[in-house]
Amino acid sequence: MGRTPAREYNRRVTQTIQRADEGGSATTPSYGNFIGGEWRAAESGRTFESRNPADTRDVIATFAASDAADVAAAVRAAEDALPAWRAMPAPKRGEIMYAFGHLLAQHKERLSRAMTREMGKVLAEARGDVQEGIDIAYLMAGEGRRLFGETTPSELPNKWAMSVREPIGIAGIITPWNFPIAIPCWKMMPALVTGNTVVFKPASDTPHCAALIVELMHEAGFPPGTVNMVTGSGEEVGMPIVDSPDVNVVSFTGNTQTGRDIASRAAKRLKRVSLELGGKNAIVVMADADLDLAVDGIVWSAFGTAGQRCTACSRLVVQDSVADELVGRLAARARALRLGSGLDPHTDVGPLINAGARDKVGGYVGIGTDEGARLAVGGEPAGGEGLEHGHFFEPTILDGVRPMDRVAQEEIFGPVLSVIRVADYDEAATVVNTTRYGLSSSIFTRDTNTAFRAMRDFTTGIVYVNAGTIGAETHLPFGGMKQTGNGHREAGHAALDTYTEWKSIYVDYSGRLQRAQIDNQA
Ligand code: NDP
Repeated sequence: MGRTPAREYNRRVTQTIQRADEGGSATTPSYGNFIGGEWRAAESGRTFESRNPADTRDVIATFAASDAADVAAAVRAAEDALPAWRAMPAPKRGEIMYAFGHLLAQHKERLSRAMTREMGKVLAEARGDVQEGIDIAYLMAGEGRRLFGETTPSELPNKWAMSVREPIGIAGIITPWNFPIAIPCWKMMPALVTGNTVVFKPASDTPHCAALIVELMHEAGFPPGTVNMVTGSGEEVGMPIVDSPDVNVVSFTGNTQTGRDIASRAAKRLKRVSLELGGKNAIVVMADADLDLAVDGIVWSAFGTAGQRCTACSRLVVQDSVADELVGRLAARARALRLGSGLDPHTDVGPLINAGARDKVGGYVGIGTDEGARLAVGGEPAGGEGLEHGHFFEPTILDGVRPMDRVAQEEIFGPVLSVIRVADYDEAATVVNTTRYGLSSSIFTRDTNTAFRAMRDFTTGIVYVNAGTIGAETHLPFGGMKQTGNGHREAGHAALDTYTEWKSIYVDYSGRLQRAQIDNQA
């Protein structure tokens, strides 16, 4: 594939996908990198496939298997676009973001279906993922008119003091597959509204979702070179982005070990890095809780997106006196969940992302039972009619887990819930906090005092009361404490801090030299 004008390319790909959706014969679509407003094959000419995890016979498209040469071209394009983009008034940049949000909304159903096909989450959840993209586009569009600094009195007379935000330069955006539209939008919208240009590397399991977003960004009016997408592996594309001396800030969501590697490489260049990493999120259920509500919240948090959410509940911390009843009810609910393609409206739980993930989850179930946990339900890869070509795993509950067991400490990233029984609130809070992660937590209780203690005590970036561990809203800061990240936050006003430098400005209109800290001491 050579260079193709974006509009013509979009039309061709859209027609091919529509034919495939309609069940007609279609050749497999082929996507290149999006660099400087054009689609280009990888310089090496290599490609890779993206397949449907619910039925791996279904090839979605082929994509450019890029390397450092393609990253360098994308960085050049981002550099070329930067002066005009940062000079554009921020409200004008915001207008393009409104147009993009509007396009996402118009295409919500098509994008949601494409997402379910590419990474497996059920359609209702895929719609929620696209909606997060819409919400952040509109929020950040508004930030174009709210990039507030501070104007303060100077300590000296006839002198003006203020601070303004400035873009950092080129933002490297590296994203995982589990929220393939929301997370790229959560990163790119604040980067762009603050006047940075972007080099975006999506996960190799979800390049199609990424290509669809970039097409719509182009249609919305982002000028050529402001948004550049390079597909390919973490090693061949991600690492060159992190190592590039011209990429000034990197925002990464993914695995803790990958995040640690990225941070140490970036540190050599004193580069700013925002990390959103793993979680080991707990729900506490006290004896006074509304158990019906708790069961709903736990099932949704533990088994939604087949447990592949950074905020998924993977530990249930339950007060002894209600533990048997709660585990029994959860096991019955888990057993009744229907597995299958997320495009089927009867499906409750879709597949895991790939065979490696399924093997990892199975391995952890073995580790848990070897450590002494009892299998209350599930525990096996799921086969049978309609599931034989996908990466399905049974919703699983391990009971009798101890707080320091590996299944209570390590991120499994699948539909596995570890149940830890405790005597009282103090023990529950200790268990919640006994982990290296700190993303999300929740407590079910009818006692207001206990709820407020939990809000104070739990060492997580997000705390829910009488709700599951998932459901963050885009206008509040999102992120975790401890090894879930490195102190940055996404979404809300907080996201602007990742992508901006503060500049303090003093204007002296006294007409004479006034020395700070000296001339005001007389
Ligand atoms: P990975 O860390 O494997 O991958 C994330 C991204 O980084 C992918 O684009 C990947 O590319 C790329 N990458 C991999 N290695 C490198 C490298 N050495 N240098 C630069 N880039 C690299 O994570 P997963 O995709 O497996 O995502 C799941 C993880 O993400 C879970 O641990 C989960 O907790 C976490 N997560 C955290 C969230 C949060 O906000 N805290 C939200 C969502 C997920 P490629 O795909 O080509 O390998």
